[in-house]
Amino acid sequence: MKIVYSELQAGHDPNFFIVRGIVRRSNEQPERAEVMLRSVINDGHEVVTPGNYGREHLLAVHTARYLDFLETAHARWQLLPDANHSEVIANIHPFAGEPCSYPEHIVGQAGWHMADNACPIGPDTWKAAVESASCALHAAELVIQGERVAYSLSRPPGHHAYADRANGFCYLNNVAIAAQYLRNHFDRVVIIDIDLHHGNGTQSIFYNRSDVMTISLHADPSYMTPYYVGYAKEAGFGEGLGYNFNYPLPKGLNTEGYLEKLEDACKHISKFQPQAVVVALGLDAYEKDPYQGICIDTAGFGKILKRIAELNLPTVLVQEGGYLSDALGDNLASALRGFESGIN
Ligand SMILES: [Zn+2]
Repeated sequence: MKIVYSELQAGHDPNFFIVRGIVRRSNEQPERAEVMLRSVINDGHEVVTPGNYGREHLLAVHTARYLDFLETAHARWQLLPDANHSEVIANIHPFAGEPCSYPEHIVGQAGWHMADNACPIGPDTWKAAVESASCALHAAELVIQGERVAYSLSRPPGHHAYADRANGFCYLNNVAIAAQYLRNHFDRVVIIDIDLHHGNGTQSIFYNRSDVMTISLHADPSYMTPYYVGYAKEAGFGEGLGYNFNYPLPKGLNTEGYLEKLEDACKHISKFQPQAVVVALGLDAYEKDPYQGICIDTAGFGKILKRIAELNLPTVLVQEGGYLSDALGDNLASALRGFESGIN
C-alpha cells in the first residue's frame, strides 16, 4: 500500500515531559518514525511525500486563534526575559469552573491552549505538526482518488488534540482532519481509534455530529490517561447522540478479548453504513509497550486490522501512538499485512 511520510516531521523533538513528578525526555521521539519507516520500506511498500494542503483543511477542525498560537508561540516565547529558549511549556491553566477570558499574554495563551505538560512547542513543532496533518490529508486524497487503503506515517500524533488545545503529545488532530476532508466526498465517515489511549480530542471534535461516527477502544480511563473522559456512558450530544462509542478495556486484556470488543463495535458500524473509514492506528496496546496497559501481541495487530479491512470500505490508516520497544516495527508490519490480507 502507499505510505505517506514527510521527513520534516523529524524537526519536532520534544524534550520536556513529566511522569509522576519526574522530568524526563518525552516518549514521543523522532526515532519512533525512523523505526516505522524502516519497517514499511523493508516490507516493500511505496513511500510518497504529501502535497501542500491549505490552512482551510486545518480550520475545518481547529480554531483560528489556536492555529495562530501554534504557529507563533515559539517565536513569541523567545521575547520573554529568562525564558526556556528550547521549548514553550505551560505553567498555568484556566479553571473550568469559573468564567474565563482569553488572555493576550503568551504565558496565559500557552496555558489556555496546552492541556498538559506532554506537548511542549519547540522551534520546528508547528512545521512538523502541519506536515503530519498533510500526510493524513494526502492519504485521504489517495483514497478519494480510488486507492482501497493508504497509510499516513504521521508524527507528532493527533488524536488527543482538541479544536482549541494541544494535549498528550498531540497538536493537530490528524484523524479528525482526514475524516473532515473525506466528508467532502463521502456522506458518512467512521473513525475507529485503536490506540491504547482514548481518542479524547477526536471525540470532542465530533461529539455533536451524526455524519462522523467515532469509536474508541482503549485502556479504561479509571487506570490510564486521559482519566476524565473515555467512559462508556459518553454517547454523543444533540445531533451526535448515539454516534460516539467508547470501549474502556481492562488492564492486561489479550488479543482474543480485544477482538470480541471490536466485533461489537463493528455492529454499530454496519448499522451506520459509512462510506469510508479512518483508523487511528496506535500501536501502544502492545504487550511490551512502555505504557503497559493492554496485551496485544504482534500477530494481534494483524488480526485487528484484518477485521477492519473486512468492513470492505475505503480506509485511511493514520499513525498515532506506539513507543520504542523491541517490536514497534514488527507491530506496524503485522498491522499493514493484516489489513492487506483482509482485502477481498
Ligand atoms: Zn496512545
